[in-house]
Amino acid sequence: MKIKNRVGVMGGTFDPIHYGHLVTAEAARTTFKLDEVIFTPAGNPPHKKDYEVTPAEERYLMTILAINSNPYFKVSRVEIDRHGLTYTVDTLCEFKKIYGPDTALYFISGADAVLDILTWKDVRDVLNYCTFIAATRPGYPIEKLDQKLIQIKNLYGKVVYPLQVTGMDISSTEIRKRVKQGISIKYLLPESVELHIKKHGLYR
Ligand code: NAP
Repeated sequence: MKIKNRVGVMGGTFDPIHYGHLVTAEAARTTFKLDEVIFTPAGNPPHKKDYEVTPAEERYLMTILAINSNPYFKVSRVEIDRHGLTYTVDTLCEFKKIYGPDTALYFISGADAVLDILTWKDVRDVLNYCTFIAATRPGYPIEKLDQKLIQIKNLYGKVVYPLQVTGMDISSTEIRKRVKQGISIKYLLPESVELHIKKHGLYR
């Protein structure tokens, strides 16, 4: 089957979305020549047990506000509208059905998420449905990731592509902490998202 489209699926909890995510998606789009990138906020992520995740609708709205100015970016509700825990394998299966066999999917996520990928539900299917892109922050201990990539290749015969992203040294955890402590989050995320956080009293 000849591939006609390349679609990036930007998976993340986005609690909140910030410039690190946007820069990563744009870097993936240009590096892998993607026709579009679909931001897919996680609905009820199975792995977030250590803190209370902000309601999915709030994270979805912030994602819409953030991507507004980029014509190549879209936001999907597939995980928001799904009941129960949301697994990446189900999301990719849904996108495969929507886009059909002549579209190649690229799943973009943080390198730390990739380190855990062997524990994910139906990992073999996940790797079959898409090409996986693992974004790293500056100063990321790349050896740790390299070992995991070799392990994935040996077990499943699949290549995961690391993508070093300049200027990605921003984290949602740090933003939530700053808001709680009353420290400015200006210039870490789009102003529209900052205003939404203020207006709705998120992360206090
Ligand atoms: P996470 O495990 O909290 O994130 C690990 C690291 O990667 C964090 O530093 C995070 O930074 C960063 N990161 C996450 N998504 C990113 C992205 N798209 N681009 C650049 N950096 C990113 O990650 P998560 O956001 O909750 O989950 C990532 C994706 O993996 C989601 O789509 C999730 O549904 C999926 N996942 C699936 C399963 C499963 O199917 N069993 C299990 C785990 C994760 P920030 O905190 O700043 O975002």
